[in-house]
Amino acid sequence: MTKCRICEEETAEKEICPSCQSDQETMKQAFEEEEKHNRELMNKDSAILKSIEEEFGEEIIKTIHEELQESCSCLGLAIVDKQKGEKSEETRDGINIYYDQTVNGGYEGDSFEGWIWIELPNKKYLQSYYSM
Ligand SMILES: [Zn+2]
Repeated sequence: MTKCRICEEETAEKEICPSCQSDQETMKQAFEEEEKHNRELMNKDSAILKSIEEEFGEEIIKTIHEELQESCSCLGLAIVDKQKGEKSEETRDGINIYYDQTVNGGYEGDSFEGWIWIELPNKKYLQSYYSM
């Protein structure tokens, strides 16, 4: 008998007992599924940004990247007909931005989350969730 190097229970021969082994496999699977999900979201986002670039040129893509980087959000973009936020007083390169902040400070006072809409030249909106 030897001891499992994770739970230190006695186990036969192997370094890791069957129970810890199966925990590890479950974790690995969950991790891989999340990775796959994120990759899919990223591909979908890239396709949306690409279609905006094709329609309106690369200048607006720069603006969108700047805006999204500032609000730390990137995954889960969508193009929608209506925004449901409040217009920001500041525009970015003349583009209207709308926010619906659902978490304003939070417990720690430093977390902000919500929705952002960037107005496109055709009066549609690029929607994203942000959290910082
Ligand atoms: Zn174990």
